[in-house]
Amino acid sequence: MHVHVVGNACIDTTFRLGRFPAAGETLNATAYADGLGGKGANQAVAAARTGAAVTLWTALGKDPLGAWIRSQLDMELSDVQVSEFDLPSDRSTIVIDAGGENFIVSGVACSEAFDPIAQTALARRITPGEILVCQGNLRGAATNACLRAARKNGTRTILNASPIDEAALPDFGLADMLVVNQSEAKALTGQMDMAAAAGALAAKGAATVAITLGAEGCLVLGHGQAGALCLPAPHVKALDTSGAGDVFCGCLAGGLARGMPITSGLKFALAAAAISVTRPGTLLSCPSASEMAALVD
Ligand code: ATP
Repeated sequence: MHVHVVGNACIDTTFRLGRFPAAGETLNATAYADGLGGKGANQAVAAARTGAAVTLWTALGKDPLGAWIRSQLDMELSDVQVSEFDLPSDRSTIVIDAGGENFIVSGVACSEAFDPIAQTALARRITPGEILVCQGNLRGAATNACLRAARKNGTRTILNASPIDEAALPDFGLADMLVVNQSEAKALTGQMDMAAAAGALAAKGAATVAITLGAEGCLVLGHGQAGALCLPAPHVKALDTSGAGDVFCGCLAGGLARGMPITSGLKFALAAAAISVTRPGTLLSCPSASEMAALVD
């Protein structure tokens, strides 16, 4: 079963340092590196490494950075559909402290200009039984158009509503599966209790809600279920959690595309994400295809 991931691709510049700088302070990093990133790219690569057939639909600038991002995508994915813009390619700066915590700042001109239904052949390519994955990086209206086209075509939809733009949220009622992390769940519902937050998100229309809980695993509330189910994460020593949410979402999509029921797909995603947090990097830490295969066997 085919997975279509619609989302951003960018260059991530990662800085490691002992502690985060205070406002106005400059610190020298202990290490720094550039790599392929963006939630769309990360999730597409993770899904492809599960063995699923994947198409990434993304937006790049007509600049040297865009050419570099394209070359990196082509090394990982067999089908990349790029819309090009006369804008700077998207980029993110990721800062990671000694405890493995991170913060991220992004420039997203291409993602904001990207309207996949208007600008690409996505609507014609998605078919019944396939899976469409969206995140929160595109404008809410563009994401809604993708989700609506998928619904019309009988394509299953996964919406990872991250990052959150309160002013332009996608329509959760168009998601067969909504995935958010704890802070997003709190921001979206005002609930501190995650079971209550899952209920509140389900009330917004998503058929199934999954809330990722970091080291605690994830919570899932299925359509019509009375209570949320907590699925634990494997115990590991976390070194760098950046990108764990994308590994989780990509592997969930890949697992479902490979025919796993939802609970099995979530357990597969938990296992893959746990591997990713034990090593440095965002995409670099994503399990390889052979590691993914070993998780399924
Ligand atoms: P990111 O760091 O990518 O922004 P996130 O905040 O979106 O992640 P989390 O809930 O922190 O999402 O993590 C996503 C998933 O990664 C979790 O559901 C879990 O499966 C896995 N994970 C994260 N941290 C750990 C950990 N310390 N041990 C095991 N698994 C983890």
